[in-house]
Amino acid sequence: MNLHPLKRPAERPRAPDLSIVVPFYNEREVLPACLQRLEALAARLALSTELVFVDDGSSDGSAELLAAARPQHCELRLLRLSRNFGKEAAMSAGLAATRGAAVVVLDADLQDPPELIPQMLEHWQAGADVVQMQRRSRAGESWLKRASAHAFYRLLARLSPSPVAVDTGDFRLMSRRAVDALLQLPERNRYMKGLYAWVGLPTVVLQYDRAARHAGRSKWGWPALFGLALEGITSFSVAPLRLATLAGLFTALAGAAFCAWIVVKALLLGDPVAGYPSLVALIAFLGGVQLLGIGIVGEYVGKTYIEAKRRPLYLLQDERRILPVACEQTA
Ligand code: UDP
Ligand code: MG
Repeated sequence: MNLHPLKRPAERPRAPDLSIVVPFYNEREVLPACLQRLEALAARLALSTELVFVDDGSSDGSAELLAAARPQHCELRLLRLSRNFGKEAAMSAGLAATRGAAVVVLDADLQDPPELIPQMLEHWQAGADVVQMQRRSRAGESWLKRASAHAFYRLLARLSPSPVAVDTGDFRLMSRRAVDALLQLPERNRYMKGLYAWVGLPTVVLQYDRAARHAGRSKWGWPALFGLALEGITSFSVAPLRLATLAGLFTALAGAAFCAWIVVKALLLGDPVAGYPSLVALIAFLGGVQLLGIGIVGEYVGKTYIEAKRRPLYLLQDERRILPVACEQTA
């Protein structure tokens, strides 16, 4: 692919070569460092770059901090959502706003090192549409989080009809056509890992060591992670429904066998029909299995309901464009 070096601002074509999308929510402590590292990177790249920061309803003044920034080397765009919609929606908003021929998504907390972007761009220039970044290690996270993430990714990979690379998050590079394909998917339940997998296209997987959070705290508590995991599995596959059917079949068969055993026991051994404890245990067990089945069906009904409302994914409050200092001077 022919990529021209950074042109003088006055001659620069409208669409940049590279867009970097950064969704953030209350990241005041890390944003200055994040911006600085992205700027340093943009200065080194021989590509025109735009930074698309998406404020997912921050209330700690993160957006104001960015709005006051004076970028030197790249255009800074700041999108503000009307409230906190969640990272998946914020990313969709950012992706929809990009204009670059290549798009990179990364976290504001610098857990995804921007310094890896040149390496990702090399693969893109060699023809890959998607460069996925796979975590070789995760620093600064508890063993419980690491272990549950490990198990979850593998479960997802098994259940998914389209191949998902394990241990890959949102940190990735996508070509324009991959982004456009992603944006065409109409669902409201934006489970991005599932959507990326659906798109397919020539993909390269690179390994990296995930850094610890630069500052601040993770926005994901255990309930949110559990919700995300459930969301992931149910928006991806109907395997849990099949599981419920199988569980129903299994308990029905076991119940029939148990009935036969009681009849045989009563006839052959003359055993009087007793067994209050076993009766209670059975009722509780069957009740549990039934509720589980209903719960699983409910998850899907709930999803259908949300899709049926066809609400927009997010609401944009405003958008700002901050041109690089060099560009303002020549303008
Ligand atoms: N984030 C967001 N909206 C939210 C929660 C998080 O945009 O509702 C952003 C957050 O600011 C960060 C990224 O998503 O840039 C990843 O979040 P975090 O670091 O808290 O998650 P973790 O790395 O612990 O999975
Ligand atoms: Mg993080």
